[in-house]
Amino acid sequence: MTGSRDQLGLTLSDHPRIRRSLPVLDERLRGTKFVSLTPKSILNSPQQTGVDFWSLNPYVGCEFGCSYCYARYAHRYVVERAHDTGTLSDGEFQEFRGPHGWEAFERRIFVKDQLLGALEADLRRYYRSIGPSARQSVPIVIGTATDPYQPAERRFRLTRLILERLARCEGLNIGIITKSPLVARDRDVLRRLQDSNDLEVYVSLISVDGALIRKIEARSPLPAVRLRALQRLTAAGINAGLIVAPVLPGITDDLSHLEALFGAARGAGARFVHAGPLRLYGAVRERFLPVLGQHFPELEERYARAYARRSNAPRGYATALTRRIKRLQRRYGFPVNDGMQDRYERRLSPTQGELAL
Ligand code: SF4
Repeated sequence: MTGSRDQLGLTLSDHPRIRRSLPVLDERLRGTKFVSLTPKSILNSPQQTGVDFWSLNPYVGCEFGCSYCYARYAHRYVVERAHDTGTLSDGEFQEFRGPHGWEAFERRIFVKDQLLGALEADLRRYYRSIGPSARQSVPIVIGTATDPYQPAERRFRLTRLILERLARCEGLNIGIITKSPLVARDRDVLRRLQDSNDLEVYVSLISVDGALIRKIEARSPLPAVRLRALQRLTAAGINAGLIVAPVLPGITDDLSHLEALFGAARGAGARFVHAGPLRLYGAVRERFLPVLGQHFPELEERYARAYARRSNAPRGYATALTRRIKRLQRRYGFPVNDGMQDRYERRLSPTQGELAL
C-alpha cells in the first residue's frame, strides 16, 4: 500500500464513514455478513497506488477464500483503520478481524454503497489526469483486490452497475479479473462495453484438477464451471482468456499440468493465456503456508528455503517458468508475451510480495 489511499479506494478520511452501527445488508447461514460501506471514491489512480494502472474493486473481502490470496491485507487495513479512528469498538474490531487476522476477509464482506456517484466524480478525475490521447495506454482494471463477481454480486449487482456506466464511455482500456462464472451473466453489457472500448476479461484458473482446487481455494467455483463461463464469453465474441496466477511451484508448474490448462483454454475459445509464479508476501504466508503444510508437507522445506528472504520467486525459477509458458503459448496458438511481467504481475501486485521458487 502506498500513499494515503489503499487499494480499495479508501482514504483515511473515508474510514469514519464506516459507522459504529454497521448496516448489515445480508447474512448467510454459515455466518458471513455483508455490511454497507460508503467510500468517497472507488477508482484509484496509479499515483495513489504506485502501480501503472487505475483500479476498481466494488467489494472489500471475498468469499472464495483462496489460500494464496494477497488481498487479505486490504481488508485488514480497512478494519484496523476503522478501529484506530474509533469507528469500530474493540468488540467489533475482534469480530471484523477474526481470531487469526485473516478469516474476516472471507466472512465480513464490505459492500460499497452509492458507488455510481463516486464513479462519476472519479471518471472526471481520470479524464483530467489522463488526457484523451493516453486513454488507451492506461488501463482501468476491475478486480485487483477482490473478485468483482464473487457470490455477493448475484444480489448486489455492483459490478454490473459499473460496467453499465463504463459502457457509455469510449476509448477506454478495461480489464476484468474473476474466478466466477457469474461474469457470463453480463455478456450483454460486456459486448456493449467492448464495442467502444478495449476490453480484456481474464478468467482466473490455476488448475483443471477440481480436487486440487478445493485444497487451495476454499470456496471458489470448480474448473469446469469457470471454463464453461470462458466458453460462453468467447462464443459471445468477448475478448476473454485465461489467467493462471499463481503457478504454484512443485504443485502446478509441471508440463502436463500446464498443458492441461492450455488445452482447456484452447477448447474454451480463449484469446490469450497469461501466467506467473506465486509470490509470498507476509500476509500471504500466514494463510498459505499452513495449507501447504497440510496438503503438501514434502514441499514445506523447499518453499521455506526459496522464500526465506524474499517474496518473489527466485530469478532462475521465474525465468524458467516464463520460458515454459512462452513455449506453450506458441504451441497452443496464443499470443506470446513475457507472461505476467507484461500483462499482470507488473500491474496487479503493487503492495504485496510475490512468491516463486
Ligand atoms: S477470488 Fe481472488 S480476491 Fe477472492 S479470495 Fe481468491 S484470489 Fe482473493
